[in-house]
Amino acid sequence: MAHEPRTSDELGRRLKAYEGQAAAVSAAGKDPVNAPMIRHWCEAMGDTNPAYTGTDAIAPPTMLQAWTMGGLSGHAGRSSAYDELLGLLDESGCTSVVATDCEQEYVRPLRPGDEITFDAVIESVSDRKTTKLGTGYFVTTRMDIRVGPDLAGTHRFRILKYAPAQRKEEPQQGTARHERPPRPRPVVNRDNAGFWEGVRERRLLIQRCTACSTLRHPWLPGCATCGHPEWDTVEASGTGEVYSYVVMHHPPFPAFDPPYAVALIELTEGVRMISNVVGVPYDEVRIGMPVRLEFEEYDEELVLPVFRVLRAEESRVAVGGGRPYETR
Ligand SMILES: [Zn+2]
Repeated sequence: MAHEPRTSDELGRRLKAYEGQAAAVSAAGKDPVNAPMIRHWCEAMGDTNPAYTGTDAIAPPTMLQAWTMGGLSGHAGRSSAYDELLGLLDESGCTSVVATDCEQEYVRPLRPGDEITFDAVIESVSDRKTTKLGTGYFVTTRMDIRVGPDLAGTHRFRILKYAPAQRKEEPQQGTARHERPPRPRPVVNRDNAGFWEGVRERRLLIQRCTACSTLRHPWLPGCATCGHPEWDTVEASGTGEVYSYVVMHHPPFPAFDPPYAVALIELTEGVRMISNVVGVPYDEVRIGMPVRLEFEEYDEELVLPVFRVLRAEESRVAVGGGRPYETR
């Protein structure tokens, strides 16, 4: 039997009673918004946007949560309601936790010297849900970050507190033991849905900023070069080369058959993407090998772009008469 959480209406009612309760009240940031933390963040992220340096600098909006963090020494000002809620879920059998998503809204830019305060509220506790991980409850907290009376932004954070589903028993010998589980599905979200629509139509689409024309992959909601949110797409020509690769031996993953090569392909258009190289054994993949796009159908629902290594005579055509790649 799987470990099922207690399912009484009583539990649901007790959990719902925490909606609207404070998770932190009038807590203050440990440090004012400051240039050194901004600099470290930008270095770690590789973000060279000039808006984050100089006398009129603002903090990167995505740093919002960083200013609220208590560090290793923890934070004063937390309420006990959140801990109580998690304790109640623990008692009901929902002993595991996973962070599922975070959503931020930026209302006013933060600048060095700003001193922030924040309140956090338990915004919602879902009904009992069954997921692949197990059965449990989604708990969403919303943090409002202020400078004086002004709202600077909100940070919503959602966790799933759940009772882990019991693992299926190992199949018996002679039954489905040799049947490989299906390949994992891509995670399609509103930022990358267009890419996967393209793949379904057997087209590899690269995002292009409509302001500065910079191409980008993987898909993002805005341009990392100029910050512009609007974009269109260009269809990749399908040619490229192996920019780098690794050969996976361990850990074994049931949907795959190690060893296999995972390659970073540089498309002729200049962007790079992770994919598989087909047409050569895993130990013959080399940096610089010319490749051409193909779409491989793994099962009824899953089509993925892969790259086939070109033979020397094909590559001469593909690269317009350049030096052919030497194969062993
Ligand atoms: Zn741009």
